[in-house]
Amino acid sequence: MTDIKTLDLEQLLNLVYQMKWEKYRAIQIYQWLWQKNVESFDQMTNLSKTIRAQLAERFYISRLKLAQIQTGNDGTIKFTLELEDQNLIESVLIIEQNRRTICVSTQVGCALGCRFCATARMGFIRNLRWHEIVEQIQAIINYTGISPTNIVFMGMGEPFMNIEEVFKAIVAINSDYGLRIGARRITVSTAGIPEGIKKLAALPIQVRLAISLNATTDSLRSKLMPINIKYPLNHLLAAAREYIIATGRRLTFEYVLLDGVNNLTADAERLIRMLRNIPCKINLIPFNSFPGADFSTPHPDKVSKFAQLLYPHLPAVTIRKSRGSQVLAGCGQLASRFQNCHRQ
Ligand code: SAH
Repeated sequence: MTDIKTLDLEQLLNLVYQMKWEKYRAIQIYQWLWQKNVESFDQMTNLSKTIRAQLAERFYISRLKLAQIQTGNDGTIKFTLELEDQNLIESVLIIEQNRRTICVSTQVGCALGCRFCATARMGFIRNLRWHEIVEQIQAIINYTGISPTNIVFMGMGEPFMNIEEVFKAIVAINSDYGLRIGARRITVSTAGIPEGIKKLAALPIQVRLAISLNATTDSLRSKLMPINIKYPLNHLLAAAREYIIATGRRLTFEYVLLDGVNNLTADAERLIRMLRNIPCKINLIPFNSFPGADFSTPHPDKVSKFAQLLYPHLPAVTIRKSRGSQVLAGCGQLASRFQNCHRQ
């Protein structure tokens, strides 16, 4: 038996062609799976009984299992979801006034080893398939009845280390036959992989890009984010500039504030010089701590002081409110540590 959710629209079109069903059946099946989130072929009521029976003979419909739900006092909800191979991943629902954002994972664990990130401690287990990425959203909609307005690829994993599946997931999330979330409401966040940035710029679905900058010198960035050894700052910033030229879109730089490490006046000055001529937003993220972390969170006064140093020169500065940090649902706190992960 095959999980029918592994088939994208093109593969469903091939299937209906082989089965000699009408072409539009592919779209109907896709809508049942990705828009209506049905659990069985019997629920696909606009298909004939014969088609439903033939589908059920060959396929089943997968679903992520809810392993744990934790709600923070700001209303942020962290979902621990179990994959078919029993690996666990985490996804987060963040509710604000006009926005309901779901943060999805793209990998089980992560290979990049950023020093300030809890996911890194898990090591890399495996890439998620595109349908496992989209199913995180479905599981949350199903459980809460809340439909998201925004999707961010900021959960466990590095999206550009799993770029093909991430792009396929974006197609389903954006599709009129899928989750119908506008491209501008989808953001992919990367630790800084220039090839991925180039490929994203060429993607016909114009999603937003965020780059986790986090340091202003190669020596510090390479210590905090070992990927910087392979792709140093000049290489990364060149890719960012190319992205802006190719797409005509601004991008966001994320900057995790680690007290005493990257939040000094000299850091702010270097950041200004580095980004002054790049049309971008800067999102400051006060460090979210987790058990065993080696860094500390700057006092809120220091966070606003850092923002104020930037502000006159880089006006698009925002401070990301720490959401869900008390249930370890904040940025960089996702790691399914409470169960062993299964390697494939
Ligand atoms: N791998 C991708 C997406 C996951 S991390 C990336 O690096 O962008 C999402 C964001 O959380 C990144 O900006 C990252 O720098 C930030 N982050 C990681 N650990 C953090 C922590 N402990 N506290 C606050 N932000 C963190």
